[in-house]
Amino acid sequence: MALLEILKFPDPRLRIKAKTVSSINPKLKQLAQNMLETMKHENGVGLAATQIAQPIRLLTADTSSELQELNNDENSRYSASSLKQDLVRHIKQPLILFNPEILSHSGQVIYSEGCLSFPSYYADVKRAEVIEVKAMNEQGKEISFKTDGLLSVCIQHEIDHLNGKLFIDHLSPIKAKKLKEEIKKNGYPTRKQVKN
Ligand code: ZN
Repeated sequence: MALLEILKFPDPRLRIKAKTVSSINPKLKQLAQNMLETMKHENGVGLAATQIAQPIRLLTADTSSELQELNNDENSRYSASSLKQDLVRHIKQPLILFNPEILSHSGQVIYSEGCLSFPSYYADVKRAEVIEVKAMNEQGKEISFKTDGLLSVCIQHEIDHLNGKLFIDHLSPIKAKKLKEEIKKNGYPTRKQVKN
């Protein structure tokens, strides 16, 4: 296991469109495990391979803390009480998804999103409420499922990363400009050194 370095905006590698994974091998499985470990270490709920400078279609996600903290929402970092939670409860997490695709979507939600490539910055983004996802799992088997809740928002956010798209691209030009200027001015909070 190893912690990976996460690229921060405006690193141009965050704009690369990731390539499809043709088959799973031990190296890719290890990479996925390292991504999960890095994501948890950084208190994130999702991570795309693009963010760790690997332009391949792979994402990890784990929003299970959202469900545990529902009754205790004041203190929850992911105050997701505004999101529908019917489908997500039945999904076993963490998830490792290769070549994830959204087959269908419905509804609309607005949620205050953060991103490990923009540490400490948040903005309201409008997304689909329910999505049906198709992907390949760690065993190379095709899976599909429907989800709502924070997991739906998270998977949409991570698939955007695989297409070189960032959450600020969903904001109005004025809001995006404001956020970029804030980052330029204040930078990101300093964190303890990430070991490799
Ligand atoms: Zn992100």
